[in-house]
Amino acid sequence: MIGCIFCSIVAGTVPASLVYEDDTAVAFLDLFPVHQGHVLVIPRQHCADLTACDPVIAGHLMQVSAALGPRLVRVLSADGYNVWTANGAAAGQQVFHLHLHLLPRFETDDFGLRFPKDYPRAADRAALDELAGRIRATE
Ligand SMILES: [Zn+2]
Repeated sequence: MIGCIFCSIVAGTVPASLVYEDDTAVAFLDLFPVHQGHVLVIPRQHCADLTACDPVIAGHLMQVSAALGPRLVRVLSADGYNVWTANGAAAGQQVFHLHLHLLPRFETDDFGLRFPKDYPRAADRAALDELAGRIRATE
């Protein structure tokens, strides 16, 4: 897709430090890493986000992430890793070509999700059941 930075990386017209590639996926180090070893795993074929992506391709991206995560842990002597994706601007998506963030994590990295001030607070079971039913009934 013209004007998409990740499509340009796939096409080789924008440089990237590749860590993996196959016929479906490309993985490279983020130019603006949260910390060392921050990898982005993307499909070669442009799709805006997880919702727009072919489910088989999305599954492959997760397989690639599962294979690369332990490698990052070994190479960086990390303590774990996250796999994370944003769908939509409200979720923090900035580049609208699906990408899975693969983040090596360290006990002292001072990075994480920001939870609401009242978290954790158990939800009402009836409300959970009602919402679960609405989700099951929605296409
Ligand atoms: Zn793209």
